[in-house]
Amino acid sequence: MEDNRTNKYKIKRKNLIKHLISSGYLSKPEVIDAMLSVERHKFLPENYISEAYSDRPLPVMKGQTISAPHIVAIMSELLDVKLNSKILEIGAGSGYQAAVLAEIAKTGEIYTIERIKNLAEFAERNLKKCRYENVFVIAGDGTLGYEEKAPYDRIIVTAGAPGIPRALVEQLSDKGKMVIPAGRRFYQNLIMIEKNEGRITKKNCGGCVFVPLIGKNGYPD
Ligand code: SAM
Repeated sequence: MEDNRTNKYKIKRKNLIKHLISSGYLSKPEVIDAMLSVERHKFLPENYISEAYSDRPLPVMKGQTISAPHIVAIMSELLDVKLNSKILEIGAGSGYQAAVLAEIAKTGEIYTIERIKNLAEFAERNLKKCRYENVFVIAGDGTLGYEEKAPYDRIIVTAGAPGIPRALVEQLSDKGKMVIPAGRRFYQNLIMIEKNEGRITKKNCGGCVFVPLIGKNGYPD
């Protein structure tokens, strides 16, 4: 029974990845492999499991969402994760994006912050269930970053920010890269930031829509 279900989801996952490739969202082999490996249905509440392999965001809890697979693909490709990268994610949500990054970074470490405590616990349970032992979930305000483990090779923000939190830029290592949706509350641009010998460059990689980043250096609660 379990095997049948696992196989059914595997086929659906393959079809979703094929769709993301043919739509131009996915091309890097390491991101394709990661998204083929991570079982998105294990990061969803029971009542949404059957929709796990549709390309859309889905509710998790408290008005928050697991991002649509195509945006996970776009951001994971832009982030350009290397083997052994140390990564900070702001907005753990379900833990799915962190799992995809963990698959790419392999021996790296992923720190993922979530401001809603119940959701941080949900992400932690999902990641444990799938045996991602190099992903650490922290409950707190990610707009402050996570100084304890800084600097980070890569930083990814998965909630829409009103601007780019200075703490995150400061916690990015030299040659580090950050991807962050920034702009208005209901519409943002995906901004790619690179740090090179103290110099910061920014590139607009296109429009997107995320739930708001709420915190000291984000929107007020
Ligand atoms: N990456 C998630 C996943 O794979 O399921 C999806 C993230 S969801 C679109 C955005 C998340 O950011 C929500 O869970 C929200 O509670 C969280 N969030 C918003 N502001 C935050 C903050 N200041 N610090 C940490 N998490 C925050």
